[in-house]
Amino acid sequence: MVTILDGKAVSEKRLELLKEAIGESGLYPRLATVIVGGDPASQMYVRMKHRACERVGIGSVGIEIPGDATTQKVLETITRLNEDADINGILVQLPLPKQIDTDRIISAVRTEKDVDGFHPTSLGLLMSGKPRFAPCTPKGIMTLLEEYKIPVAGARAVVAGRSIDVGRPMAALLTNADATVTICHSKTRDLPAELKRADILVSAIGKAHFITPEMVKPGAVVIDVGINQLDGKLVGDVDFAAVKDSASAITPVPGGVGPMTIATLMENTFAAAATRMP
Ligand code: NAD
Repeated sequence: MVTILDGKAVSEKRLELLKEAIGESGLYPRLATVIVGGDPASQMYVRMKHRACERVGIGSVGIEIPGDATTQKVLETITRLNEDADINGILVQLPLPKQIDTDRIISAVRTEKDVDGFHPTSLGLLMSGKPRFAPCTPKGIMTLLEEYKIPVAGARAVVAGRSIDVGRPMAALLTNADATVTICHSKTRDLPAELKRADILVSAIGKAHFITPEMVKPGAVVIDVGINQLDGKLVGDVDFAAVKDSASAITPVPGGVGPMTIATLMENTFAAAATRMP
């Protein structure tokens, strides 16, 4: 019998616990979001993050910069937020418009406020096995695995996708948790054979219904990070209906990884406030 890994329910529980912890701490953490341009998907994600802030008692400041802004203009905003003692976390919504140097923007965020975990220092700490802020999507997936008591140590984990926001940090977190990890990508030879060896399969490719039952070992735990549109519906990378009967556990889309990402952002922001340097 397959277990549906209910990220929505787990995130609700985590947000309630966080709300209590924030209330007891006497702190008032604050998150600043920076959005450049009017991309509707980015606007929606930022709105969801602000709603979550409100729910748990984190203050939020939304900064909107016109889509034709220069890198310098965005850097000025980051510098101002870095220096603002009332702001604990800074989130720059990606992707940024093409004319903006994304690497420079990410590197400009003070590492103590890097609640998204994309700064090279944050990623380096993660690689060294001593993460400060791990990127929210993979960290949220680790929380989901923990909540369902899915054993990771010694498991063979295969991550499809090698992006900075999901694939690479996912592989690092699984490695830190003692899994034996393989990273696959667009140049991987015989991807189905690699995937089929996974006890824990994480797909972060971004292709609707790409993962089919032939690629999944019977009894595997399947984590679907993908968010794709198919015939006007939101679907993951995994052909959920076809794969679920051979998996031992699987995340749905929507309602799996997505809510865990937002809950983790809230947890990272509280951690930033709680460990604030004088
Ligand atoms: P990305 O485009 O940066 O990376 C995609 C990766 O997939 C690349 O590393 C590429 O090598 C690999 N890939 C592409 N085609 C492949 C193929 N045919 N075989 C094997 N590998 C292939 O994307 P991303 O930012 O990592 O996001 C991946 C997906 O996850 C997207 O659908 C995105 O919307 C979604 N996402 C969801 C959340 C969430 O909270 N649920 C968060 C971030 C991203």
